[in-house]
Amino acid sequence: MSTGKIGVTSENLFPIIKKFLYSDHDIFLREIVSNAVDATQKLKALASRGEYNGDVSDAGVRVRLDKDAGTITVSDSGIGMTAEEVEKYINQIAFSGANEFLEKYKNDVNAIIGHFGLGFYSSFMVSSKVEIITRSWQEGAQAVKWSCEGNPEYSLEDASRDEVGTDIIMHINSESEEFLEEHKISEILEKYCKFLPVPVVFGKKKTWKEGKEVETDEDNQINETHPAWTRKPADLKDEDYLTFYRRLYPMADDPLFHIHLNVDYPFNLTGILYFPKIKNNLEVQKNKIQLYSNQVFVTDSVEGIVPEFLTLLHGVLDSPDIPLNVSRSYLQSDSNVKKISSHISKKVSDRLSQLYKDNRTDFEKKWDDLKVFIEYGMLTDEKFYERSESFFLLKNTEGKYFTLEEYGKLIGENQTDKDKNLICLYTNHAEEQYTFVEAARAKGYDVLVMDDILATPMINKLEQKKENQRFVRVDSDVVEHLIRKDDTSVKELSWEEKQELSPLFQGLTPENGGVSYIVDFKTLGENGSPMVITRSEWMRRMKDMSQFQGGMNFYGDLPESLNLVVNTDHPLVKKVLKQKDKELGESLKGLTSDLDVRKQELKALEESGKGKKDEEVPQADKERIEILNKEISGLEEQKRDQLKEFGRNNKLAKQMVDLALLANGLLRGADLDRFVRRSVELIK
Ligand code: ADP
Repeated sequence: MSTGKIGVTSENLFPIIKKFLYSDHDIFLREIVSNAVDATQKLKALASRGEYNGDVSDAGVRVRLDKDAGTITVSDSGIGMTAEEVEKYINQIAFSGANEFLEKYKNDVNAIIGHFGLGFYSSFMVSSKVEIITRSWQEGAQAVKWSCEGNPEYSLEDASRDEVGTDIIMHINSESEEFLEEHKISEILEKYCKFLPVPVVFGKKKTWKEGKEVETDEDNQINETHPAWTRKPADLKDEDYLTFYRRLYPMADDPLFHIHLNVDYPFNLTGILYFPKIKNNLEVQKNKIQLYSNQVFVTDSVEGIVPEFLTLLHGVLDSPDIPLNVSRSYLQSDSNVKKISSHISKKVSDRLSQLYKDNRTDFEKKWDDLKVFIEYGMLTDEKFYERSESFFLLKNTEGKYFTLEEYGKLIGENQTDKDKNLICLYTNHAEEQYTFVEAARAKGYDVLVMDDILATPMINKLEQKKENQRFVRVDSDVVEHLIRKDDTSVKELSWEEKQELSPLFQGLTPENGGVSYIVDFKTLGENGSPMVITRSEWMRRMKDMSQFQGGMNFYGDLPESLNLVVNTDHPLVKKVLKQKDKELGESLKGLTSDLDVRKQELKALEESGKGKKDEEVPQADKERIEILNKEISGLEEQKRDQLKEFGRNNKLAKQMVDLALLANGLLRGADLDRFVRRSVELIK
């Protein structure tokens, strides 16, 4: 027997392991089992080259739990180690620059493990003592036993082991007793080892017998050694991909389709990515891609390795070339990782493009489920935008799909405005905006449906990209003004006239609900609607965008303001205005002339006071001005009140305002009830 000191040149290794590797203890088992798998694969490689003659057909790894002894043992029938190899691989640990490195990465377990090749030593995170009993594959090799109790001293002595291979016996320390629970070990194996390339067995399979769970004779192999991504696409059917998907995500809905990745130059990457149906909630979908390194699970947080939008996909990526054992910030600047990331992005758009070309009908069927993903990509990855432009689809209210190019051609003639801008009309809620959609269609316009969560930023993006293209929501203006084709303006009411008339209708708009109404008058033709409610495209979009961007809350907080547009061409409106003249004509005239007299007097007084200092203006004048101002506002109020009163009592006017509100889903509760009653009255 020999004893010695483990070759740590700088500091004592064990406090470091305990101190820095504290956070994620589970990985010790991954490390020990992976080493066992590597050793097994190495022996199989020797056998296949004819350098080793033993039988390797059953070679695999066993994990055993002995609760009474307090040990976990990982046994393999791999290449084993000679005493010299134990010296070399286990005892001599390259430790140069350790302190510096540790300081830098003290919070990053994987970085430390990776840097020092501490895989094996991570067993000391949970063990008070670790023993290795190993026999090398080489002819006549003497089995040896290495033992160490978590300090720099170790012992190495001859031992006996019948077969070639290695046992790692971990004596679990008192703080880590949770690892002596079967379910805990099963859970770790399921997480990290379920796709390892050689069989890993943990205990026996269980079955239910007479109401009790009992062990069978059959080994409980916890892994699938040839998971779908390691096989050739030609050998796999759609069904196989689906089965594999369900193995990965037992709870998820079936995916739309998949991409099988297989790259060997300039880096190694295999994997299968699935397109899930994306619900209108992007956050929930994240962190689903699982990352493997040679079939060992590493992580399911892939940010930094794949472009942000691709984290919406599901599936697995396996690459020994992703430096897994380094910190995230390092990862993002790694050139291999960048290449991998842009490669995946390209593969994804190639696949989409191919699906589009091969079977457009099928692609259209999937489009509604796919579009949020594609939009996300186009918004965040410029290259992806460029590659996706050719298959990005727009859908109109008839359920027809168009590429951007096709759509431009479709509406080019009819929907180009006087400034040569192509105006794409859209609705974000075909049902709520039904009247507007129908009005636009009746005018021969096409209307797009853009109703997903990314519609607003996507519209902005498309406008940025295409200079002469604008998107206008159907309810942002009356149909006549959605696409302005010429400047010849028809005679509209003057500002004063509008000002004077607006109280008549103002009094008819709902006063609660946090919405304010601005009354406007337009000439929309005899056949247009008598009244329409619109909301400004600009203001609405600012509000929408404020949901996506910080710093725009200002817009989000503004109260909603809508326009009630009164069509002065419409016979019913004309009728109301005539009734108003008849009923209020005299009294309004009287009020107006009273107002005029006072306004003139006020003007004269103000003229005479001009350029004078305050004390130079006669007191009588000052008092008179005050009185006049009061009288003027009083008279104006009387006028407004009369108009409001008239409006409120005018069933026709009320009915028209309510109809416009109704068409926008804005007529509710008691107002709606009154409307129904009044309608019945009118029909009678
Ligand atoms: P790494 O696996 O990163 O090289 P480890 O500390 O996990 O670092 O292992 C160090 C070395 O010890 C391995 O490279 C291997 O040569 C040897 N080794 C570890 N476990 C086994 C095993 N079960 N069978 C044979 N050799 C092993």
